[in-house]
Amino acid sequence: MDLPVDEWKSYLLEKWSLLPTSIQLTISTAETLGDIFLQSSSLLLPEDEMFLKRLSRGYLVGKDPEAPLFYREEGNKKFQEKDYTGAAVLYSKGVSHSRPNTEDIALCYANRSAALFHLGQYEICLKDIIRAQTHGYPERLQPKIMLRKAECLVTLGRLQEASQTIKDLESNFTAKPALADSPFQILQRNLHHLEMKIQGKKNLTETFPAALAKAFEDMDLRDENEQISSASSSVSLCTNPLKGRYLVATKDILPGELLVKEAAFVSVLTPGEMQPLHQPLDSKWSTRVTNGDLYCHQCLKHTLATVPCDGCSYAKYCSQECMQQAWELYHSIECSLGGLLLTLGVFCHIALRLTLLARFEDVGEIIRKLCDETSHKDVFLPENKNMVKTLKYYGQGESEENGKIVQPPIPGCDVNGKYENNYYAVFNLLPHTENHSPEYKFLCALSVSALCRQLEAASLQALTTGLKSSKLKAAATPEFCPDLDIWGVAMLRHMLQLQCNAQAITTIQQTGSKENIITDSRQVRLATGVFPVVSLLNHSCSPNTSVSFISTVATIRASQQIRKGQEILHCYGPHESRMGVAERQQKLRSQYFFDCTCPACQTEAHRMASGPRWEAFCCNSCRAPMQGDDVLSCGNRSCPESISRDHLVSRLQDLQQQVEMAQKLLRNDKLEQAIGRLLGCRHDAESFLSAEHTMVGEIEDGLAQAYAALGDWQKSATHLQKSLQVVEVRHGPCSVEMGHELFKLAQIFFSGFAIPEALNTIQKAEKVLSVHYGPWHDDIQELRKMKSCLLDLPPIPVGPSIMPGPHCFGELAHPGHAQEVPVGYCGIIIKKSIALKMPGSSFSGS
Ligand SMILES: [Zn+2]
Ligand SMILES: [Zn+2]
Ligand SMILES: [Zn+2]
Ligand SMILES: [Zn+2]
Repeated sequence: MDLPVDEWKSYLLEKWSLLPTSIQLTISTAETLGDIFLQSSSLLLPEDEMFLKRLSRGYLVGKDPEAPLFYREEGNKKFQEKDYTGAAVLYSKGVSHSRPNTEDIALCYANRSAALFHLGQYEICLKDIIRAQTHGYPERLQPKIMLRKAECLVTLGRLQEASQTIKDLESNFTAKPALADSPFQILQRNLHHLEMKIQGKKNLTETFPAALAKAFEDMDLRDENEQISSASSSVSLCTNPLKGRYLVATKDILPGELLVKEAAFVSVLTPGEMQPLHQPLDSKWSTRVTNGDLYCHQCLKHTLATVPCDGCSYAKYCSQECMQQAWELYHSIECSLGGLLLTLGVFCHIALRLTLLARFEDVGEIIRKLCDETSHKDVFLPENKNMVKTLKYYGQGESEENGKIVQPPIPGCDVNGKYENNYYAVFNLLPHTENHSPEYKFLCALSVSALCRQLEAASLQALTTGLKSSKLKAAATPEFCPDLDIWGVAMLRHMLQLQCNAQAITTIQQTGSKENIITDSRQVRLATGVFPVVSLLNHSCSPNTSVSFISTVATIRASQQIRKGQEILHCYGPHESRMGVAERQQKLRSQYFFDCTCPACQTEAHRMASGPRWEAFCCNSCRAPMQGDDVLSCGNRSCPESISRDHLVSRLQDLQQQVEMAQKLLRNDKLEQAIGRLLGCRHDAESFLSAEHTMVGEIEDGLAQAYAALGDWQKSATHLQKSLQVVEVRHGPCSVEMGHELFKLAQIFFSGFAIPEALNTIQKAEKVLSVHYGPWHDDIQELRKMKSCLLDLPPIPVGPSIMPGPHCFGELAHPGHAQEVPVGYCGIIIKKSIALKMPGSSFSGS
């Protein structure tokens, strides 16, 4: 997905292998990126371009006039099954294939508004109704959506508008009753019903809960760093020949302190796929739900009500504003290239978008500065020369000028030594040209040059047809490089930079069962972005920070105390709790070109005899840990037990299968069967796995999930606490994974009315999660709501049988009390909650 599709990759690798050795050598030993690019692109033949075009045509990125009807019907099926989310997504797909101002698009919007109404999303339901109307919703159907509009307005408390809508509707009726599709009487009854509702509402002096402070605005950096934009003043930028650029603490930092808050300079939505909604009968149109269906192409916000680009079916936005913005910044160029960009992969796409965005900065200035710095005419110096220069600076050390110590300039900083989130900083990220294999450079260079030719053809075509010519031409040939080759070299540089500098933008995605009683959550990669400031951080397998994302903004917080002078470190993906030391080293070496010497790697290398506890086997007879390589023997000296590793591994695989089958039963709501099977698995696990084995955690988690679905909160909590122990051993007591587990546990205690336990767990969860996410995260707000719910409970009459206490589960006892418990809130959290899954392990640098 980052790289081009396999067909194109293997096509180019074969082409490479067939090149004469002399040409291979010229490319391998080329001094500059410019030479690599020019040498390679001269080898791109028309037949290669034809092959690539054929591949690109495999993607349906245009608007297919037959598709809207298909998607509307598929959506209606989902709607009938009461799967309103699924229906909304399918209507969105229908919208994306419709031309503006057609009945197709109006009907899709109107149907989607109905789905959104059932999902309780009244605000965006209203927007969809307006969209349907502006695109020419048929008059005969108007009463239906106007009634829906009135209902939304009533629910939102906008009573005056609701009354007006009803008046309009009524006058519409009396004017042309024959137009109404639905029987007149039913409509009359609905109207009457709504009017009653409005009256009822008016009589209530309801105070709406104050809108939550907007998470985003309230998590600003307290004081911004004068040297580095988007960073707090608690850090400072340093450089040395071994580490390159890095950040250190300028004062003692407490856990949870916000250190960096940076908007991506560029981000490209990953076209990844979620679970299939259902297998399509007609494979021409996919009913799969992808990231592109759920997140804004421009700002990455989640939405069920996307607005499509007028020109293509693959770019969808959360709003008209995002669509407009994207069009002006880059999409006017990208719109017709959808299939090609999907074929060439995300890195190539980012490389293009970076150069398109660069048009809006003074790129000429950047290039001039680079020329000055390197005192060469060639902007695209191999960075080892830069390195020599850096080393030379260090040889000279600091110099004194007018009594002030003058530091050598840090790459990427402007003349005043300021480092900013801009194209100049991006351009200065290292491409590691000398570390990439010649084949890889060839692959990147040819992909970029194919893209360049396509752009050239597009701008030529625009010129000759005169179609929006000035705009398109200006866009297609950025003024900083009238010569497409230079543009190509810049893109090649970006492509090579991305392997080490691309940052995965992730989100927690919830995937629920049909009834939404049990929700699974997992971390998914949403997009790939470039963050010049975040890129300053070096890697550690046990970092002292934690990164999270809202929309396209990354925030980095201290995850533990950091002392003044210590380096600020984050994890590029291979975290010590997810990978063994050998695997981490291998990954860091092959992707990032360095050997990790972080404390975790150093200590682990010594003591890796028995492996981490979450992968450990234990003795069948005495439960002591087993040790050894091919043959494991009991760690307890008085115990003679020994067994081959192969045998244990195959038992583990069998168990894994059993657990997966149980999880499937769970998903299909066969709860009793799932529990039976899971208990069997647990029994089996106890005979050979350590109590902290990941598999044991998964089994306990499944049991907790099943009991929660049955409403047996007490048993659910007991099992979840065991799963929690496994998570704690593996990820640590203050990890974000632990925070998510505590959150689940808090919800279960809450649902079971175990008040003291719930309060205690809420407090712990709040503490851990706010370190990673800050105080305005949704989960924290929800924990606070739970807490105030619990604290607002009326005092419980004293009496031994109904005292809530550690054992009050299931004894909701007092019927009067049961009603006072915030059932409505329970309903909400039970739906949203019980994301009972082992924490995801899919965070990856790129
Ligand atoms: Zn948006
Ligand atoms: Zn488009
Ligand atoms: Zn390490
Ligand atoms: Zn033993």
